[in-house]
Parts: sequence; structure tokens; C-alpha cells
Amino acid sequence: MIFRTIAGLLLLVGFVVSARAQTLGINTPHVHTERCASVGVEQQLRLRNPARAFQMEALEQKIRQFQQGFSARQAADDKTIYRIPVVVHVVHNNSSNFVGGANNPNISDEQIQSQIRVLNEDYRRQAGTNGFNTSLIGADTGIEFYLAQTDPQGQQSNGIVRKYYDKKAKFDPYTYDDLKLISDISYWPSDRYLNIWVTNLEGLTIGYGQLPLAADTLKALPDTADEKIDGVVISYTIFGATNCTPSYKLYCQGRTTTHEVGHWLGLFHTWGFSDCGDDYIYDTPPTLNGNTSTGCGPIFSECIPGKRTKNLVENYMDYSPDVCMNMFTIGQRSRMRAVLAVSPRRRQLIVNANGPLGESEQLTILMLPNPAQIEATAEIRFKGAKALTVELLDLSGKLVRTQNLSTTVSTRVSVSVSGLPKGMYIVRAIAGSEKAATRLLVN
Ligand SMILES: [Zn+2]
Repeated sequence: MIFRTIAGLLLLVGFVVSARAQTLGINTPHVHTERCASVGVEQQLRLRNPARAFQMEALEQKIRQFQQGFSARQAADDKTIYRIPVVVHVVHNNSSNFVGGANNPNISDEQIQSQIRVLNEDYRRQAGTNGFNTSLIGADTGIEFYLAQTDPQGQQSNGIVRKYYDKKAKFDPYTYDDLKLISDISYWPSDRYLNIWVTNLEGLTIGYGQLPLAADTLKALPDTADEKIDGVVISYTIFGATNCTPSYKLYCQGRTTTHEVGHWLGLFHTWGFSDCGDDYIYDTPPTLNGNTSTGCGPIFSECIPGKRTKNLVENYMDYSPDVCMNMFTIGQRSRMRAVLAVSPRRRQLIVNANGPLGESEQLTILMLPNPAQIEATAEIRFKGAKALTVELLDLSGKLVRTQNLSTTVSTRVSVSVSGLPKGMYIVRAIAGSEKAATRLLVN
């Protein structure tokens, strides 16, 4: 649902901050009845820095301007795939440094990889997975995630950082100081990576995702801490899709991370900041508040007097159990893509991840991500400008797909692997008289 007046946001935000601050403020005991800490933490951040509300309002105007610049047809034709490099910081107190197993916050690589897979299934509405839907308002967001392959110093990395920390067994995601502490333990620049911290959380809260702003620099803030905690914090118990213990079975399919990354990409809950609030999305129904039941509904709201509407419990931005969720809407896709274009820190991340490629004396080809599920990007570098052909071959040497580009400098080429049998392939680049090839695993 969307309210047409933009003044509504400031009024709403002002009301929420003053009204909820009494119950969720930093000077009062914390009530951990909410599954997601994003709204509560946003209120704390605004108490520390009142300019945040105005920076969010400014972002709202930029999103609106951006969306008005697109016709519906152009938006539907926008096939750009945004690929977001992710670093997962595992903050644990397991002195044995043993990795994986039950009740161990030092989770396995496999559990982490299962989460990246679920993110891609959900954000790409991938057929044959739990993230697929056939709804007319359901969308493939065109946003993908991969574990970073280089660290901030440019060294090769698997995108996973493990940090042993023994001074605290559990962190409170509602407490600014705890969020800052987690970041002090491990952090990569938030304008180059999506930081996901996985740790042991206090209370009933299982996730937090920081909302984006329009702030062009951080100079207006009292300190740069907002930038340091810009990312997503998830309980290790429900990260990924490999840890379905009876006590966490409602949220064990990885959808809490899908939800929190939705906040990080600028989505609000389907009920906005308060009961029957505004989520700034035109195709989600008015919603009283979150589905806190253990089922998938149906649940109805009466936000407009006399008009009962059915909640979109299958939406990732509700609180439904993981098994119910399978949808971002077309409106949510549009908003997240607008945020990637106009929120400075998010835009910078995309540019940094996908910036201009330098020259190379010899032809080189690098595939990202690798393994790939739906699409991969070939980074192809060479000297000067040349005609370029990119071929995808199976291991028998049979040509599966091919693309020809007219004269170009070093560039990225999107290689679709959708619909291909799983397995190893060869990607070959031919630039002028040079050839180079590399392997690509499709899984
Ligand atoms: Zn939330």
C-alpha cells in the first residue's frame, strides 16, 4: 500500500519516533517480542542522529524521481542483473574453533553457502525452488548475491571471516553498543560489500537489517558508526537452510536473511513503521501488522474502515514462518532497484563491484560468481580495443551458447546458465587473434 502524500512520511516518522521511543528507547528496558530489530534500531539511530529521518525522506524523494523517469514498459524491459558481493562474519565464542555441528555459533561453510543459495532463489524467483511463485504481482528482482572473492586489501578470499570473541556469549541486536561491538570485531567497508554478521543473539529477535539513506557523505552524522553497522545481523540458529532443529523449525529455511536484506535494500514491513502504516509500495495490500502465527493464514486487515483486505503473508517483508514465504512484488522490485541506483552507499557498492575494468597485456577471463546458478559475469581484460566473442562450451567441446560483441575495450559480459544441466563448462573469450578460457561450474 502507498499513501500518495509525501508529507505523510515525516509526520509518520515523527510520530513513531516519539511514541515508540518510550518503549524501545535506549534508556528503557528492551522488550524482545519482535522477530526483527530493524525498526527498533532505526528509532535508536534517529535518537542519536535526528538527521536520519530527513535523510530517509530525501531518499524517498530520490526513489520517486527515479521511478517517475521509467515507464512501466521500460521498467519491465530493464534486465540489468545487480550482483552484490557479500562478506559473512561469523562471530563466535567457541574456544575449540571447531566448525559446524549442533548449537555451535561457529557455523559451517556449508550452512553459509546454503544461505547464499536461498537468497538467490528468493531474489531471482527461481523456478523449482521454494522462492518461486506464479503470482501476477510476483517478481524476479534481478538482484543476486555472491560470497566476495577478494578482501578489502585485494587478497583472494572465500567471503567468510571467522572471529573468536570470548567476552560476550550473546549480542543484543536492539542495543546500538552491541551492534557497534560486533562491527568492531569484524567489518569490511559497507560501500564495497554487504556485511552479514552471524552470531548468537539475545532474546526473541533473530535479525536486523539497516535501512539505506540519501546521505551523500557521513559528515552530517555525529560519528561514522552508522556506516560501520550498515549491514545485516542474523542469529546463527536460523542462518541458511541446513539447521532445522525443532526449536527453530519455523524460521529454518533462510528467509530471515531474505527479509533483513530486503530492509538493507530499502523495503519496509508490509505494515510500514506502525499498525496499518505505509510501506511505499503500490501493489502490497493494506496490512494491520505482522503475521506472528505459526501458520500461513489467511489473515485479514481492516485498515480502511469497512474494507477488509487479505494480508500478503507470502511476502518476505511479513513475519510469516519461512515455509509461507515466496514473494517479492513488482513494486518491491522497483523500489529495491531504485535504491541501488540512488542511495549513495548502495550505488557505490554496485559501482565498486562492477566498475570499469583495467587493461591487461594479455587476454584474461575471470568468471563471477563461480559456481553460478542462473547467470555469471565474465570479466574479460585485454590490451586496447578489439572485437570480442564469448563462447560457452560443455566439457566435450560442444558449443552451448555464444555472444559476439563489436569492437570493445576490456569489459564484462553476462553469461546466462539458466536451464543448463549442472556440471562443469568452459567459457572461452576470443579477442582479435588471442584466445583465453576458464572453467565455470553450474550448480
Ligand atoms: Zn523486519
